[in-house]
Amino acid sequence: MQERLKRIRMVMVNTTHPGNIGAAARAIKNMGLSSLVLVDPKEFPSPKAVWRAAGAVDVLENVKVVSTLDEAISGCGLVVGTSARERRIPWPLLTPRECGDRVCVESQEHDIAILFGREDRGLTNEELQKCNYHVHIPANADYSSLNIAAAMQVIAYEIRMSFLNQEAGQAITFDDWDMPPAKQQDLEMYYTHLEETLAKLGFYDPKNPRQTMTRMRRLYSRVRMDEMELSIMRGMLTSIQNYIYRTNQKTDSSDEETQ
Ligand code: SAH
Repeated sequence: MQERLKRIRMVMVNTTHPGNIGAAARAIKNMGLSSLVLVDPKEFPSPKAVWRAAGAVDVLENVKVVSTLDEAISGCGLVVGTSARERRIPWPLLTPRECGDRVCVESQEHDIAILFGREDRGLTNEELQKCNYHVHIPANADYSSLNIAAAMQVIAYEIRMSFLNQEAGQAITFDDWDMPPAKQQDLEMYYTHLEETLAKLGFYDPKNPRQTMTRMRRLYSRVRMDEMELSIMRGMLTSIQNYIYRTNQKTDSSDEETQ
């Protein structure tokens, strides 16, 4: 269980108040988690964080500070984004309990990141679109935004409950699969490759992108391609690009011939 818990990263994006970082460290340590990653925090390290962490300074000492979200989620096979409100484009959604179960089961296979947003604005749409799932704590609809460390406490609690249930023999299983899921950084490269190919085909206009790539990201988030499927899709895109290149060459040379 210890090894699996270590694979679960709690990621705080652009946190403003160092006190919240300390409170988050305490909240996760209470639930047996230890990995806290900060993306470009406003003020860290800070005595205010140490003060709020109480007995969880060890978690603070081992905090990883990175400058981009991509670094924070690199190597993860599952990325979950937390959100205090419903977004314009709905995404595959988990309840906090389902999130706990999924994290517990998938921690047997790969690293996992759970993302928490800014105190004032949450996560941006672009950040939420990097996630396989979103999770919303169904709080009072008239006052649904929890303090970030409190939100982390709820999610960490559900993860712990799921681990305890599993230990007690109430094993939860998801469909077994023969391949590991595609990793986040490989998916990002795939999206760039896809966008480039669709643009070359004339299907997608980068100057007027509308919601095309957002919807494609959502489609692939639902599907959760495995490593083999991703590699096949990359191969297909490369073949399409080669075909476009050859066709353009032929057109160029026949233009020359007719001149
Ligand atoms: N005003 C912001 C709220 C941010 S609260 C907004 O509307 O998005 C800071 C962070 O705490 C959120 O980004 C999210 O990570 C977490 N959080 C707060 N309330 C939550 C809830 N009800 N469900 C899930 N996460 C929540």
